[in-house]
Amino acid sequence: MKPSHIEHIGIAVTNLEDSIRLYEKVFGLKCYNIEEVKDQKVRTAFFMVGQTKIELLESTDPEGPISKFIENRGPGIHHIAFAVDYLDAELKHAEKEGVKLIDKNPRKGAEGLDIAFLHPRSTGGVLIELCEHKSE
Ligand code: ZN
Repeated sequence: MKPSHIEHIGIAVTNLEDSIRLYEKVFGLKCYNIEEVKDQKVRTAFFMVGQTKIELLESTDPEGPISKFIENRGPGIHHIAFAVDYLDAELKHAEKEGVKLIDKNPRKGAEGLDIAFLHPRSTGGVLIELCEHKSE
């Protein structure tokens, strides 16, 4: 696998509006997109930092993965997303290397990107997302 860059860092938050204010006021970043991803039971807010994004994640469902995460570990860094050129091929490669996949096939994430998660049990406790990002 050869990720081209960190596409985004996903951060679990309890209140999206409060966190947006924090990132805008303290870090001077501009929230350029707020989007609900029904599939993942989250509302997301995006900021650009260089070519990497910060993705804030607020749960829309007490049974959703972000609610569960905050319940167990508190708010904070939830996942790291690598940009890859060919998601399908990289998933097959990861599986061949013995990595447990959460998503065997790519699905649609925020911003219309094809994404897939690898299981943190196979990656040292870090939830890693792969994002298909065709190089320009
Ligand atoms: Zn993500």
